[in-house]
Amino acid sequence: MTIMAEHPVSLWPAAHAADARRPRSQQTKIGASDTVCARRAGYLLHGRTPTDGGEMRKAILGTWLHAGILAAAREEYGWVIERRVEDDTIRGHIDAVQLDAHTASRLPKRLRPSLPAEETTVEDVKTKSTYQWDNVLRHGASDAEIRQVFLYADLLRTEGFAHIQGQRQLARLGPVPVGRIRFRFLNRDNGDDHVQEMAYSADRARGARWWVQQVRSAESPEELPRSFPGPGLSAVCDNCPFKTACWGSALAGRRPQSMLIHDDAEREEALAQYVEVTEQMKPLKERQRFLRAQLDGSEEGVYGDNVLSWSGGNPTKTDDVEGMVALYERAGLQVPMAPDAAAMKAQLKAAGVPVPVRLDPERRTSVSINVSARKTP
Ligand code: SF4
Repeated sequence: MTIMAEHPVSLWPAAHAADARRPRSQQTKIGASDTVCARRAGYLLHGRTPTDGGEMRKAILGTWLHAGILAAAREEYGWVIERRVEDDTIRGHIDAVQLDAHTASRLPKRLRPSLPAEETTVEDVKTKSTYQWDNVLRHGASDAEIRQVFLYADLLRTEGFAHIQGQRQLARLGPVPVGRIRFRFLNRDNGDDHVQEMAYSADRARGARWWVQQVRSAESPEELPRSFPGPGLSAVCDNCPFKTACWGSALAGRRPQSMLIHDDAEREEALAQYVEVTEQMKPLKERQRFLRAQLDGSEEGVYGDNVLSWSGGNPTKTDDVEGMVALYERAGLQVPMAPDAAAMKAQLKAAGVPVPVRLDPERRTSVSINVSARKTP
């Protein structure tokens, strides 16, 4: 018998449950992909229980895209995908390794790539939204993303593939001479891709190891710095499973970051920095307004390294009251005759009579900060 649901069910609860069972979601040992924020890596390393569920839909979509594209790379090019690397302190899953011809020749024929690399390349696939795409094209991988992949490459160079079931032949290769790192960014909205490559650098790998060492040597997560500015200011924090542990529960009406100021001395310091930053931004904002005015009316197109396009400028929609009245009358419905507040206000003002007002306890004006120089006595 087929059981019919009354309403179409959402697939997201199933997707979240399946994602939570993945080994990577359950690991408490520090993983290379956990090295995005020092404080968060500390919470994981100390086995703290996550305090926040977080919105996982984008991450789950990213995982599914990864699985599809990496499976295609394995089937078509014979790349080594989704393999574990680890040592005593850290572990990770490398998205893809494109072996050079010499290293590949040491594997059984069926495991050799059809498309070997000039030099062994560790590849990491990153899915991004259109919103983040301009940043990807301009700046490439972030420091945290580079650190993560250098950790993978360094583990491969020093330890090789982990000795675990399913990759024993690869583990027998021993340390693998990685020569290159590659990021493959995928726009999950339109499929655009962008590749960024860099040579393996022992200095950068040492820097990444040092970062991990700092996290490992902290006695508690609270000793470690927050790598991001917090909820509301960083998407990483907004989706962090330790958001509440890290920032506490903000006082009603206050931003979480306000907990960083404890006394008037810290308030004085923050205020001085606020004034300094505002002063620095002023000439830049003026220059930006001037440049915007110069560009007004320019044709859309590619100019040097930048693409110019325009948005907005469309007529805005407004309620068509006459149309609504006509629809009501046609349907035989009574047209509501509410007082016309705008017309009454205009008439009272024209007659010089103050318009009566009352405070609405439900609505508040937005809070603005005002800082001015102190008067010297
Ligand atoms: S909330 Fe932000 S700063 Fe705190 S641990 Fe998470 S990512 Fe790091």
